[in-house]
Parts: sequence; C-alpha cells; structure tokens
Amino acid sequence: LGRRINAAVNDLTRSATLDEKAFDGMIKEICNALVEADVNIKLVAGLRNSIKKTVNFKELAPGVNKKRIIQKAVFDELVKLVDPHNTPYQPKKGKSNVIMFVGLQGAGKTTTCTKLARWYQARGFKTALVCADTFRAGAFDQLKQNATKAKIPYYGSLTQTDPVIVAREGVDKFKKEKFEIIIVDTSGRHRQEQDLFDEMVQIQKAVSPHQTIMVLDSSIGQAAEAQSRAFKETADYGAIIITKTDGAAAGGGAISAVAATHTPIVFIGTGEHLLDLEKFNPESFVSKLLGMGDMAGLVEHVQSLKLDQKDTMKHIAEGQFTIRDLRDQFNNIMKMGPLSKMAGMIPGLSGMMGQMDDDEGSMKLKRMIYICDSMTAKELDSDGKIFVDQPSRMTRVAKGSGTSVREVEELLSQQKVMGGMAKKFKGGMQNMQKWGVWT
Ligand code: GDP
Ligand code: MG
Repeated sequence: LGRRINAAVNDLTRSATLDEKAFDGMIKEICNALVEADVNIKLVAGLRNSIKKTVNFKELAPGVNKKRIIQKAVFDELVKLVDPHNTPYQPKKGKSNVIMFVGLQGAGKTTTCTKLARWYQARGFKTALVCADTFRAGAFDQLKQNATKAKIPYYGSLTQTDPVIVAREGVDKFKKEKFEIIIVDTSGRHRQEQDLFDEMVQIQKAVSPHQTIMVLDSSIGQAAEAQSRAFKETADYGAIIITKTDGAAAGGGAISAVAATHTPIVFIGTGEHLLDLEKFNPESFVSKLLGMGDMAGLVEHVQSLKLDQKDTMKHIAEGQFTIRDLRDQFNNIMKMGPLSKMAGMIPGLSGMMGQMDDDEGSMKLKRMIYICDSMTAKELDSDGKIFVDQPSRMTRVAKGSGTSVREVEELLSQQKVMGGMAKKFKGGMQNMQKWGVWT
C-alpha cells in the first residue's frame, strides 16, 4: 500500500505538467490503494474530500514541497480515522478490575487474553484468567496451557457446561482473593449467531465487567465494519484489540472498525507468542500501513528488550543519529530475531532487505556490521558527511571489511534516513511521552 501511494505521489511530482488534473488522478490512485487495503469505501470517499480540502492545489505556492504536503495530508487523515477521541478504561490498582473478551471464533481471544494478563502482570497487577468458553471442546485446556506458561492463576471447569455459571464463579473467587485484573475469556462462533450474542449478554450481566474488549482478526477486511457494529449493538464493548497484524492483511479493516464504532483500539497482536502484544498508537499504525517505518514502535520494542540503548536513545532525543548508533541497531536487530518483523519497523531497512528471507537478511546485516567495524572511531561517531567529503574513506572501509563501495554507500544512505527521522523525532518527544513509550 505504502509503495503504491508513494508511487502515485512520485508520478505527480515527476510529471511535467503539475496541473490539477494530475493531482486529481493521484488522489484517485491513493484512494484505490486504500480500498484495496480494506479501508471502508465510504471512509475513503470522505478522506478524498478532506485531502482535497486540505491540499488546495491551486493555492500551493510554487516551489513548496508538494510531495511532502500530500503525503502528510494522507497520513493525517488516516490518523484521524483511527483515533476515536475516546479514552479507554484504565484499570486501577488496589481494586478488582474485570475485563471481558468477546469476538468470533478464531479471532484470537484466548491467545490475547493471556498476552494481556501477562502485560498487566508485568506492570505489577495481581492478575488472573477465567475461561468461560464451554462451547468449544478443549477451550479450557488451551487457556490452562497458556496461563501455566505465563504463570498466571486461572479458573475453569471441565464439567460445568453453563458459561454464565463458570464466569460468575471464577470472577467471584478471584475478587475474594483480591485479584486486581480478572480477564474473562468467552467462546465465539464461526458467524454472528443469535445464541452467541445471547450468551455474551448473559455473561456480561453476570460479571458486570469494567471493560469489554472486542477481539478482531485483522484479516477480516471489509467485513470489519458490519461485524464491529453488530457486536457493539449487543455487547457494547469499550475497546478493540486487533490481532494477527503480523500477517499478510493490509489492516485497513481496523480503521473501518474504529470509524464505525468510535471505539479505541488498545492493543494489537503481532504474533503467536506471549510477548507479541503492542500498545496501539495511531501514528505508528498508519506509518506501518503506509510503509513509512515505525520509529515509535521500534523504540518501544527495543526498550522492552532491555538492551543497552542509552546512547542511541539520548542521541535520538537530541535529534542525532550517528553511524555508531546504526551499528548498535544492527547488532540489536541480530539479537532480536525474526528479522522480517523488525525490518518493517525501520524506515528504509525493509527496502534494503528487499525480498530476502531471514537468512539472507541476517547475512546482509552481518556485512553491514563488518563495514562499521572497519571504520575509525571518528567515522563511527560522525553523521556520514565525512565520507562524502573524502570518498577515499569509502574505498578503504570497503577493502577492510571485505565488502564493496556500493554496500558502504548503502549503509551511509540508511544512516541518512535514520538521521532524518531522528531530527523529526526531536520535536516528537512530547508525543512519545503522550503515547507512553517514554516512561
Ligand atoms: P479464539 O477462538 O478467539 O479464542 O482464538 P485463539 O486465541 O484460539 O486463536 C486462534 C489462532 O490465531 C491461534 O492459532 C493463535 O495462535 C492465532 N493467533 C492469535 N493471535 C495472533 C496474532 O497476533 N498473530 C498470529 N500470527 N496468530 C495469532
Ligand atoms: Mg478461544
């Protein structure tokens, strides 16, 4: 999607006659790309009008960077769509906060409730899980396994077939034991069926959750709007979690769900493992959707790994990014594993990696690290200009590292991209605090 949008914008800026007709054509192409990425058609139509209003082509002064203005307009409009301007429920320490999950079968409820329980547990909440899925055989076993792995107390029953009773018993038990986060997993059905909705409402009445969360599979596509509306009407959830964002789906469905229900997305699932849960933030989500890289997500991920990042973080905060910082990032990426996942977060890196698989990609990264290791301290601590001023340095480094001048250049242009991001980021520090990334 990002590639298509960028291509559309590039076509426009390259075309000899920068007239309004070319501009309209470009907006049309961008909108087609969004529809193909499963953003709701009506939303796209609205977006098209807003962009036209924001970017008044006729009034753009000659010489301004039209490309930047258009890209920013698309970005801002999409961010507006995923930002519901509604704050989700904030669990409080020292009291029992009951959270209930709803969603279709296979959406990722059971997986995600354990991830969320772990997330709260890691933040000092006394956390427990209740399995109120008595519909699917093996549902309790699945939750039990997940919970055991995460060392989270759980409640369920192999004999009781009424999910309402199990839910009530579990929640009562954990309330008595002063648990602070009690997450109730429920069953789903393949489709939106009346008996699913009846069951949801009964459980809701029985446990009076402080927060109901709808779990939505990101691959649901255009069906997201209807589904999120139907659930909203019955279960009136106050938050959404989008799962399987690591998959092939473009993710536009998520935008539709938020826009249709004015309900905030609180987390996204990024894989099958316990730790694959990220706090949602609209800017990162849209950046990724548009293929612009995800600085905020990267920083959070890096922080969660507790790698030694002090210098790099300090540099980014100051609006700098040296080659040494780049090398440290490469080294960290090697430690972080699945490369394909990390690459999507770093602007330019996914482009550099192209269609490589994880093995080829890590080979490539190693060569980049060899290049850095052949540099002098002065070169490493520079922003790369030193190489432009004295190109012979490139030849020396290429020789020393057993690579090519082309690869050295590649590394330098990667550093430039990151340097540019860091500069932009300096002003974005307040946002970082707002998003809770910088705690
Ligand atoms: P439920 O029926 O709603 O409880 O769904 P489950 O939690 O059982 O999940 C269904 C499948 O989706 C399982 O195979 C999960 O491993 C998988 N799954 C859930 N969340 C994610 C995610 O974020 N990424 C990926 N790749 N798989 C996920
Ligand atoms: Mg389940």
